[in-house]
Amino acid sequence: MTLKKNDDIRLEITAFTSQGSGIGRFEQIAVFVDGTAPGDLITAHIIKVKKNYAIGKVQKFHKKAPFRIESDCEVDSRCGGCAYRYITYEKELEIKRQGVNDAMKRIGGIDIECEEILHIEKPENYRNKAQIPVGISAEGKIIAGFYSKKSHRIVDCDDCKLQNKDFSLIIKAVKKYIYENPVTVYNEETGEGLIRHVYLRKAVKTQQIMVCIVINGNSIPKKDRLIESLLATGLGIKSVVLNKNKKDTNVVLGDECEIIYGSEFIEDELCSLRFRISPLSFYQVNPEGTELLYGKAKEFAGLKGDEVLLDLYCGAGTIGLTMAESVKQVIGVEIIPQAIENAVENAEINGIRNVRFICDDAKGAAKTLYDEGIRPDVIVVDPPRKGCSREVLETVSRMAPERVVYVSCDPATLARDCGIMKELGYNTERLCAVDMFPRTVHVETVVLLSQRRPDTHIDIKLDLSELDVTAAETKATYQEIKDYVFDKFGLKVSTLYISQVKAKCGIIERENYNKGEGKSRVPQCPPDKEEAIMDALKHFKMI
Ligand code: SAH
Repeated sequence: MTLKKNDDIRLEITAFTSQGSGIGRFEQIAVFVDGTAPGDLITAHIIKVKKNYAIGKVQKFHKKAPFRIESDCEVDSRCGGCAYRYITYEKELEIKRQGVNDAMKRIGGIDIECEEILHIEKPENYRNKAQIPVGISAEGKIIAGFYSKKSHRIVDCDDCKLQNKDFSLIIKAVKKYIYENPVTVYNEETGEGLIRHVYLRKAVKTQQIMVCIVINGNSIPKKDRLIESLLATGLGIKSVVLNKNKKDTNVVLGDECEIIYGSEFIEDELCSLRFRISPLSFYQVNPEGTELLYGKAKEFAGLKGDEVLLDLYCGAGTIGLTMAESVKQVIGVEIIPQAIENAVENAEINGIRNVRFICDDAKGAAKTLYDEGIRPDVIVVDPPRKGCSREVLETVSRMAPERVVYVSCDPATLARDCGIMKELGYNTERLCAVDMFPRTVHVETVVLLSQRRPDTHIDIKLDLSELDVTAAETKATYQEIKDYVFDKFGLKVSTLYISQVKAKCGIIERENYNKGEGKSRVPQCPPDKEEAIMDALKHFKMI
């Protein structure tokens, strides 16, 4: 039977997509059905048929998957915010972990098992930030909430289970101001109307709240009444900001901010440090999850105290600053000027001095640092969803750090980039998912990439009879040189690097290592390590 629109078919759901819908097979055709889970047996009503797949909706359940639960949200079936409220959280974690493994294999060609997925205690009301679109219903009611799935239809909701509970009171206060004054709300189709989004942030440790009203204009009428209405909530509102966005765009925030009440920033505490956050600076949305994430990133970084650490895409400096006490120097790079201003202030208010922040695009900054001769021992990258460009990854690998810690909010682009790093000489050694976004399709991931060690991945033939062993050569063993360099400079150097420097100094005349039959690129000793090895050779009076 060929599948047609409006058919009703019996379907067994056998898998989940990474986008949160169930899939069943009907005669070789994959049928996607929202709100279903593997183990469900349903009658599906087909609403769309394409060449290789179809989309259906549940007509009737015949059998339900054992891990199904009742959703506790009234608007769950319409809202695009949550994806998994109808299954247990344990099952969701299992699905996410499997999804990360699959992406690494399918997209990156990397066979690695994700470690136990880290998650917060209670997957409720964890979001400290909300960008809530404001609109008007057909009946003329002011509405605010998430968009419905794959559309820009606003689902009015004043009891979101993901967001901080204070946010619904603030939304009520903004709606009151809109009704009473009255103020227009933005219409995406016509480009008219004033209030576009209410953008909220709460620093949960300090209770400070920032309310940012995104407007399609330069000012709002009777702004004192808005401020009054907000302060009447009795919440810790520390800052009220107007963000001006007059563009016809899906990007929520415009570039210009005007503070209309209180402070330019709010301050939060994270990993025992204090962080100042401006409206345009990125700040992780799940504070408890962030501590788990940064903890894992630090573990992967394997810091000993002497490293130069490059924090690419550093936002307000958070990752680098939480690692600063464990390294010699942190260099942070970020493209948004306000975020870099915060990063500099954050270093200052925490008394951290071994940091340098650069406001630039990651690609350009990495090149400049490379040209300056900076060779970080560890590089942390935490790019936006689209991942890193190949150029960034190439410069990262040319800097030859021992370890790269890649933090990502999109397993697909992470997997792609790990595949590129493999070509560039870095193995994915560890993989851990952190569920920063419970009940939604999203998951955060962190991987450890390690430089393929020449002494473990390239066969080294140290056949003494083949070497021109001079008197000098016998003076210090490779191990003694390694120990000296580590003790004096805190640098780890491989046998390969030592032999390269020895060859350069004329101590040995030929390369005494096998180049791996052309299969792998032979890493070249970076300048800082070369200098350290030279120092050792001088110390042992070999040059
Ligand atoms: N590591 C930070 C921020 C991560 S979000 C944290 O944990 O809070 C990604 C950051 O990358 C954002 O701050 C964004 O402004 C920045 N960014 C985006 N594109 C960039 C680019 N091309 N170069 C440098 N930074 C960029």
